[in-house]
Amino acid sequence: MAKELKGIAASDGIAIAKAYLLVEPDLSFEKSEVADVESEVKRFQDAVAISKQELEKIRNKAAEDLGEDKAQIFDAHLLVLNDPELVGPIEEAIKSSNVNAESALHDTTDTFIAMFEGMDNEYMRERAADIRDVRKRVLSHLLGVSIPNPSLIDEEVVVVAEDLTPSDTAQLNRNFVKGFVTDIGGRTSHSAIMARSLEIPAIVGTKEVTHHVAKNDMVIIDGLEGNVIIHPTEEQLAHYRKVQTDFAAQQAEWEKLKNEKTVSKDGVHVELAANIGTPTDLTGVIANGGEAVGLYRTEFLYMGRDNFPTEEEQFEAYKAVLSGMEGKSVVVRTLDIGGDKTLPYLDLPEEMNPFLGFRAIRLCFANEDLFRTQLRALLRASIFGNLKIMFPMIATVGEFRDAKAILEDEKKKLIADGVEVSDSIELGIMIEIPAAAVLADQFAKEVDFFSIGTNDLIQYTMAADRMNERVSYLYQPYNPSILRLVKNVIDASHKEGKWTGMCGEMAGDQTAVPLLLGLGLDEFSMSASSILKSRSLLKRLNKSDMEKLAAEALNQSTAEEVVALVEKYIAE
Ligand code: PEP
Ligand code: MG
Repeated sequence: MAKELKGIAASDGIAIAKAYLLVEPDLSFEKSEVADVESEVKRFQDAVAISKQELEKIRNKAAEDLGEDKAQIFDAHLLVLNDPELVGPIEEAIKSSNVNAESALHDTTDTFIAMFEGMDNEYMRERAADIRDVRKRVLSHLLGVSIPNPSLIDEEVVVVAEDLTPSDTAQLNRNFVKGFVTDIGGRTSHSAIMARSLEIPAIVGTKEVTHHVAKNDMVIIDGLEGNVIIHPTEEQLAHYRKVQTDFAAQQAEWEKLKNEKTVSKDGVHVELAANIGTPTDLTGVIANGGEAVGLYRTEFLYMGRDNFPTEEEQFEAYKAVLSGMEGKSVVVRTLDIGGDKTLPYLDLPEEMNPFLGFRAIRLCFANEDLFRTQLRALLRASIFGNLKIMFPMIATVGEFRDAKAILEDEKKKLIADGVEVSDSIELGIMIEIPAAAVLADQFAKEVDFFSIGTNDLIQYTMAADRMNERVSYLYQPYNPSILRLVKNVIDASHKEGKWTGMCGEMAGDQTAVPLLLGLGLDEFSMSASSILKSRSLLKRLNKSDMEKLAAEALNQSTAEEVVALVEKYIAE
């Protein structure tokens, strides 16, 4: 029987494939007595042998894809499995106590784990973690359940998970992973944002998909409407294959606009820019006719590794993006770690409210060396293109002044050392904290530009965690309160002869685009996959009509009324 679930449509498109479950396996077992100890020892040895083969495969794949240093962790696991001092006592325990292999493995390794954890030496304490990992792997083979490893996927699947962290998402191989669906998350959680840059269909926040899907079940992901269909019928398969073909035809139509500028029907040019996370995302920007990079989320450079990127590594990445865009504008945002973006090697305290806590510019001020390294790399790269630097999570004018002073200081030092630095770097801030949106007139006197980060601005204005699907109904980009804040920011910048962009997800939202054009937004920055359909829409709109629409929208009471108004204007 087909089963349908509704979630939040996070990335366009249709995926039809077998399910790959990325969930923690159930490794529970009962202690029992065995009659035939020899065959129990053999069962244990077989599980060890398969675990070794598996680890070697993962090790080699990690070395190939991520480098030798990333592969070393698996070498450590192999060492554990090859250690007779550990394996021997487990076999002994099976023989002497007539117990099943699962409990001999568990009890013996517990003794070793406790011993290593009690040591003073940090290196030795880390061995306890290795033993835990290895125990989990061997146990999974004894119990016949598999531990998922997304980097080893080598056939077409849709990934089904409770949640995906940004670094899980970064590991997904686009050639095989056709889409993903999760229990938790919202449209602006970073795994959803990454799905859009990978251009794979995704649905988040279904609350329960992992309870209904088993390994290899056939699943359809309808990323256009947010529907998940498990065990589809022949009719449903046929229907969605047709939707898939129609969507591809629609995209081919939009492609024709790739080399055009974005001009409204009445001749007003606005800039359609792309959000990127890595230099490799530039391929998508160029393929989709992006006129600029409106947001480079540099934190992805710091993720999926176990140490900070050096100044040189960062310089190379920034240079690649700047030269790749051939003189077109590139807005680079300084490090925005915290919230749902963590670094395994940066020891951050557990926080009650991480999105309201030690994040972004706050964390950079407290780790000034980190900040200065990034700024130096950016300044050195500035001569390779049209660089604009933007600070995230600015709440006060004082924070902007402090960040600017540190940047100026690094610039002075570089120049004194004879390093060439561009003298036309624009300096802006993200407007994502309501305090800054309200005080935009004062900020506008000091910054060169604003970029409105609606993902955070909406969560902070509505007091609704962007990661929490239970309050996702409060993610209301069309709520008049949000529109009024956006208007305040745009007007304040224009009054000072500055410009305003938007790099939150709202900028590529097809219902919001007409409103934003009417409010006078200068630059729309979005997932590369949304650029062409937005260009197609903007070409059909008269800015003068949209100004009237926006004026009316600002005086509505609810988001629903605003949506109805947009529909009325667009239909006319
Ligand atoms: C935003 O908050 O709108 C934004 C673009 O930044 P991020 O999604 O990375 O927090
Ligand atoms: Mg933000």
